Amino acid sequence: MTCIEPIDVPPQLTHKATVLYIDDDAVNRALINRLLSSYNFKVVEAQTGLEGIAIAKKERPDLILMDINMPGLDGHETTTRMRSIPALDKTPIVALTARTAKGERELALVAGCDGYITKPIEVDNFPHQVIAYLEGQRDTMSGAERQHFLGQYSQKLVERLEAKIIQLEQANQKLHKVDKLKSDFITLAAHELRTPITLIYGYARLLQLTAQESDDNVPPEGSPGDLAGRIFDAVHRLNETINDILNISLIEANQMRLEREPVNLVEVINAAFRELNRTNPQRLLTIGFDHSLTSLPSIIGDPQRLQQVFWNLLSNAIKFTPDGGSISVKGWVVAPGPAETGLSHAFPTSTASGSGVVVTVADTGVGIDLAEQVNIFDRFYIVANTAYHTSSKTAFQGGGLGLGLSITRGIIQAHGGRIWVESPGHDPQGMPGSTFFVFLPFGDSPYAS
Ligand code: ADP
Repeated sequence: MTCIEPIDVPPQLTHKATVLYIDDDAVNRALINRLLSSYNFKVVEAQTGLEGIAIAKKERPDLILMDINMPGLDGHETTTRMRSIPALDKTPIVALTARTAKGERELALVAGCDGYITKPIEVDNFPHQVIAYLEGQRDTMSGAERQHFLGQYSQKLVERLEAKIIQLEQANQKLHKVDKLKSDFITLAAHELRTPITLIYGYARLLQLTAQESDDNVPPEGSPGDLAGRIFDAVHRLNETINDILNISLIEANQMRLEREPVNLVEVINAAFRELNRTNPQRLLTIGFDHSLTSLPSIIGDPQRLQQVFWNLLSNAIKFTPDGGSISVKGWVVAPGPAETGLSHAFPTSTASGSGVVVTVADTGVGIDLAEQVNIFDRFYIVANTAYHTSSKTAFQGGGLGLGLSITRGIIQAHGGRIWVESPGHDPQGMPGSTFFVFLPFGDSPYAS
């Protein structure tokens, strides 16, 4: 058994020296950690090159021991990367490797290492070797050698880069294939479900009308009319979900067709609101339509699709605003150029004049994290943890399939318009709110039928 004798810490090391050891092998890490700790070093471990870089930036170790053979960034690449970080460019880095072939030492040095220790280590000697590097020992090579090995090292880097690019391209192709399979499956499943649901939907409505004993709008609870009404409402929701899925596949395939006609946006927004209000009158929210909306001129568009846009935006505003909050809808004309509106960043370059209308839906709700503000328009994207998913179109924090904004954006883009959101961030206590902006041009949609 090896007996470990305490050794003198060099006088210039006035503090307990920190050694960062980067190695993917846990057994090696445990051995070096025990050995150096028993000589009063503080040892910090990292499993990968990337982790090592992050820890080194934070811990600023006195010395780094670098394994060379590692998955991901290998020891050479990790060292080269560290040398480009000002805080680490002077830190001694010592390669600790089982690679003993000719030229390995030189490759480690041109990559940026200051020294080279081979594995298996000599337990008695190893701490002294580490101290020597801490005291300033640096391995050297001649200028000609350096030149030669630098060429070899850059060759190796380019080959590794090429292999990585090929790997990434293959992985990307595979992802595309899987993504297409998933989209095809979702679309097919939605088509298959649509036929029986249309039948159930029709019969549920018939049943509701037949079972309604009087003209009374609200049948007594538990009566056949009430039960048939509940079936109808549930099937209606199922039908909406299936339509959402089919709509998103149309948008993805660029096949959304618009029935274009002059559209009065106030009527469309009111219709969307009436529809939402009908399904859930219980939330205590103040919803205001600014008088600016009444003076909006008509645009050319598809009224049904645009109703869906404002239904989605209002439904989200209702869902993400707690009781007692408020939602306001405003509108104005932008003409002739977006630069004058102060909103130029948000306008599509394809909109020649940029003239059209902007409608905003603002709420005093939970707000949206800055980093999520682009993602929320992606299909199936939900910010909240799906483990806590509650399915509702209007309940506070109720969830959906993550398709609403994606469909909304698809419809707006089909009109040649644009949607974006502004929010200071997500804060369920402070309720900073969100404002969605919809820009719709007067009528030069690329999808005009
Ligand atoms: P869904 O169809 O499930 O409602 P959306 O595509 O409409 O999904 O919205 C995606 C996500 O964007 C929501 O899960 C929510 O986190 C966030 N979001 C949308 N509108 C708002 C809003 N007004 N306030 C806060 N978060 C919102």
